[in-house]
Amino acid sequence: MHTDLNYIAEQVAHIRAHFNSAVTRPYKWRLKQLTQLRKMLVEQEPAFKQALAADLAKSEYEAWTTEIGFTISELDHTLKKLKKWMKPRKVSTPIIAQPASSYQLPEPLGTVLIIGAWNYPIQLILGPLISAIAAGNCAVLKPSELAPASANLLAKLVPKYLCNESFWILQGAVAETTELLKQEFDHIMYTGGEGVAKIVMRAAAQHLTPVTLELGGKSPCIVDKNCDLDVTVSRIIWNKWTNAGQTCVAPDYVLIEKSHSQDFLQVLQSRLVEFYGENIRQNKDYGRIINNRHLTRLIHYLEGQNVVIGGEFDTQQKYLAPTVILDPPLNSPLMLEEIFGPILPIVTVDNIEQSIAFINRRPKPLALYVYTKNKKFEQQVLNFTSSGNTCINDGMMFMTNPNLPFGGVGNSGMGSYHGKTGFNTFSHLKTVMKRSTLLDPSLRYPPFTKMKLNL
Ligand code: NAD
Repeated sequence: MHTDLNYIAEQVAHIRAHFNSAVTRPYKWRLKQLTQLRKMLVEQEPAFKQALAADLAKSEYEAWTTEIGFTISELDHTLKKLKKWMKPRKVSTPIIAQPASSYQLPEPLGTVLIIGAWNYPIQLILGPLISAIAAGNCAVLKPSELAPASANLLAKLVPKYLCNESFWILQGAVAETTELLKQEFDHIMYTGGEGVAKIVMRAAAQHLTPVTLELGGKSPCIVDKNCDLDVTVSRIIWNKWTNAGQTCVAPDYVLIEKSHSQDFLQVLQSRLVEFYGENIRQNKDYGRIINNRHLTRLIHYLEGQNVVIGGEFDTQQKYLAPTVILDPPLNSPLMLEEIFGPILPIVTVDNIEQSIAFINRRPKPLALYVYTKNKKFEQQVLNFTSSGNTCINDGMMFMTNPNLPFGGVGNSGMGSYHGKTGFNTFSHLKTVMKRSTLLDPSLRYPPFTKMKLNL
């Protein structure tokens, strides 16, 4: 369902006017909307699972752990902490300004725009929305048109559960988003690829609107020979092949010492069979590629590569097997572009320390993973690389901690959210100084006599 373009300006203006009525500011309003959002997720869990199965063949387990349950935990954390986050944040006052009190007062930004991507179509709209509501904003939501079942469901349910004057969900693709981006917003949170992020940022510049860009890139995964190989392989499989590799923080490729790579591959191969069986295509725990355009893109990556595991595909079913490639040419598209699918290249190095230089020659990744028992090497990786997020001895598990802000650096994005950071992202932390009128020495006022200058 696409919306008449003229209607977009009208609707955004309506929401902005509603924000000015100040109804979204009180704690009570925020609490009500967040509670309603929770109710929606709980009551409509089967419908959400159905939509995610239709869009990406997500299993019920994945639909719960990475989308519905994940969003509910973010909601619960927010509900628990909201009152505290909204409080003025006291800071000390220097002697020169005494007697006075100083604090930061969080206030909502206004009407924000949230644009989501298709790979986690529920979580990537509702997650930012939780932060936006907590901070007392109105919001316009634009889910990805590439996950239509999820977008349709959100468009049906959001107006049923949330205040219609404060939230509007627009379905559509490039034309609708382009029109939407012409409107004035007080903040834009965009999740998606780098190319569109530049379009979003250019449009935001017209209104000097701040942006949070949640992007992607190639997230490296270093496997040191001094690691727990069994646990490492299991965790890499879970992190890479959840949602058939279509995760912004999935390990994009593995860096490993040549001498250790065959052991790693052997365990990987047998563990994949253990997890998914001999006939992965029939296994309901393994997802599908979002559409044939993306499947074709992924299949092209395999051309001329040394496929050591998998490689089978079925365009009818939008299926691509968990695929492992050994030592791909570093100038092949597979190693130049974000894979965003179930292909895992293994890049061998002579010495694991070389992996640091390898990573530093490339754009800053959204996530960086290192599996090692060697504390010195762990510190080397932490101190000499830059990434949005790092996890030691696991992958996207770091996302489960709402106390850890989530966001990229450099090409992988700007700004962050989740938990209190999300609240801050959608708030303006207004500084306030309240001075007493009891003392008012004349020192600061003209005339600036010699006596005053000598003080
Ligand atoms: P996508 O195709 O769903 O696009 C994202 C959004 O941009 C959609 O809502 C879409 O309608 C809109 N859009 C597309 N073209 C546009 C245009 N020309 N003008 C305005 N808006 C437009 O998603 P995608 O870009 O394929 O997403 C994949 C990327 O997103 C990957 O790089 C991935 O790593 C990244 N990602 C990042 C996160 C994160 O949280 N950091 C999460 C998921 C995905």
